[in-house]
Amino acid sequence: MEILIENGTVVPMTGDGRETFRAAVGIRGGRIAMVDRDGSRTGAFRAEAGDRLRVIDAEGKAVMPGLINLHNHVAMALMRSVADDMPLMPWLQEKIWPYEAKLNGDDIYWGAKLGIAEMLMGGTTTFADMYARSQRVGEAVEELGIRAVLAPPFIDGRMEAFEREAVEMIGRYHGSGDGRIGVRIAPHAPYTCSPESIARALRLCERYGVGVHVHVAETQDEIATVRERYGKTPVEYLDDLGVFRYPTLAAHCVHLTGGDMEIMLQRGVTVAYNPQSNMKLASGVAPVAEMLRRGLAVGFGTDGPSSNNDLDMWEELRTGSLLQKVTTGDPTALPAHETLRMATAGGADALGMGDRLGRVAEGMLADLIVVDLRKPHLCPNNDLLSDLAYCGKASDVETVIVDGRIAVEGRKLCTADYAAVCRGVKERVAEIARR
Ligand SMILES: [Zn+2]
Repeated sequence: MEILIENGTVVPMTGDGRETFRAAVGIRGGRIAMVDRDGSRTGAFRAEAGDRLRVIDAEGKAVMPGLINLHNHVAMALMRSVADDMPLMPWLQEKIWPYEAKLNGDDIYWGAKLGIAEMLMGGTTTFADMYARSQRVGEAVEELGIRAVLAPPFIDGRMEAFEREAVEMIGRYHGSGDGRIGVRIAPHAPYTCSPESIARALRLCERYGVGVHVHVAETQDEIATVRERYGKTPVEYLDDLGVFRYPTLAAHCVHLTGGDMEIMLQRGVTVAYNPQSNMKLASGVAPVAEMLRRGLAVGFGTDGPSSNNDLDMWEELRTGSLLQKVTTGDPTALPAHETLRMATAGGADALGMGDRLGRVAEGMLADLIVVDLRKPHLCPNNDLLSDLAYCGKASDVETVIVDGRIAVEGRKLCTADYAAVCRGVKERVAEIARR
């Protein structure tokens, strides 16, 4: 099927992200085949597609790249609001880990379906995930039609199960099929993964060419623990073990030294900024304005739905930008266009997919969203970039296209019965409580 999106204002996120223009966007075979600014090619596109053409009228709407959520544990949608208002370690040790110990693969599949439904309906078209039994997350991704980079995680004492899972995931998805699912491996964190475990896991990177997704420098506790054990910062610890020889996406990076940022820049380590999760766990504020000034690639993530507690990227944009202004004392930090760029093209760059994802331009993957601007909180449309970055809401997203296929239309999920997903999850949660 070919799709033609007409009459919209395109926010392409090419260049520095400031440009917007009216154009018709044509989609064919999973790619953006045409961005027609002067109307000269739309007739031919329409004629060539013939009966297969779906036309979307985007009058009064913005057409932009889908949002890219760089850090998630999507199946934890099951555990939304199960434990809140606690510090990270007691939250993990007393609440989350005991709950997770009761989960089976079906629970994870249903939790992932719920989180993916939430993301798609809010305009997120790609997410990077870290969760055990990632095969079941993969099933949900395939079914609901989102794009994902899935990372089976490990901690000390779980290496054999991890290796089995990682090899299976790599065999199933890495570098095969239509490429909608990618695979990385995930050392959980520097304080839960010994040098021996990390060295063992890196053999998979070496052998299969997969990258890494890891929590880094999330809390002051982590800094103190790693300093006490190894006499290093978490970044130095991972660097000395050779982790950064492989493409690495580092989540959080709240407490970094200047030396850490220098190492990350030299090694091409990219960053997932999770402002709301870091606020909720009182972890601190990542020095994103400085990271950007130094040239690091940074995008946004929500973190899992039990530490946020939702998967709404629009909230991360606004919160993330405001936090940088407040902590630097500089209202020019993270301006609107930069914030939007980080959530789209910047996220694609951080995943090493910037050559094909995160921008509305000919030849790019057709992951697009149509945002309805005819809302009171977006009126009178004085500045589209400011409106999107500072006023946009998940509920403004009207249409979502991933890989050239319509996943959400008229704010309705097309790839699953969302009410049935919610019912299924509630049944799982009731059953988990009885275990
Ligand atoms: Zn996380």
